[in-house]
Amino acid sequence: MPDLVHNLDAVQQRIALAAHVAGRDPRSVTLLAVAKTFPAEDVRAAHAAGQRAFGENYLQEALTKIDALADLRTSLEWHFIGPLQSNKTRPVAEHFDWVHSVDRLKIAQRLAEQRPASMPPLNVCLQVNISGEASKSGVTAAEASEVAHAIAAMPQLRLRGLMAIPEPAGSIETQREPHRKLRELFEQLNADGLALDTLSMGMSDDLEAAVLEGATIVRVGTAIFGARDYSN
Ligand SMILES: *Cc1c(COP(=O)(O)O)cnc(C)c1O
Repeated sequence: MPDLVHNLDAVQQRIALAAHVAGRDPRSVTLLAVAKTFPAEDVRAAHAAGQRAFGENYLQEALTKIDALADLRTSLEWHFIGPLQSNKTRPVAEHFDWVHSVDRLKIAQRLAEQRPASMPPLNVCLQVNISGEASKSGVTAAEASEVAHAIAAMPQLRLRGLMAIPEPAGSIETQREPHRKLRELFEQLNADGLALDTLSMGMSDDLEAAVLEGATIVRVGTAIFGARDYSN
């Protein structure tokens, strides 16, 4: 666990340095700790070290952790960031604070219908396939405006912004390109009348590039919790 505390601190310092270079307030960037494959105890330790926002990709694993950490529920946020099948939307609507991976209208419609009226609106981001890869989910940049306006009108959802998972790239300059495209799309949608405040982009290997291009949430797993082991 000392590693975890040290790693969290090191990631916060990376964010602060990149924000400084960009002339931004480091507090304008939220660190989302991506805990997929790591146990509830690690989330509890990160929470004890002051971390508040946690990201999960796999629904069943996430629900188990949310249940195990029910005592902390009012002092942490759960963000769903993984691929979402339309027959799995209900538990997401009922247990999460945010969904970053809304990649089609049907998913948004189901989340809007299934979000309990007793809960605050679900915060959502529209996932954009910004590198235009055939294998990636997300709407194309060309589709984004129409889909975003439709989601913004749905009850029980609050459209906060855009999310992307750009292809890994080596140099910081190459890494910045897709992040810049996402930021430009975000600015265009706001000029078109939306009121988006969230750019969810940047992971362990490219968070500096993302912060330089305006990320407001960086989603970091490996640099906090360590390498993931999918073998067990
Ligand atoms: C796993 C994952 C992350 C974190 O990736 P790291 O490289 O471990 O920091 C961020 N976003 C999404 C959508 C992920 O699936």
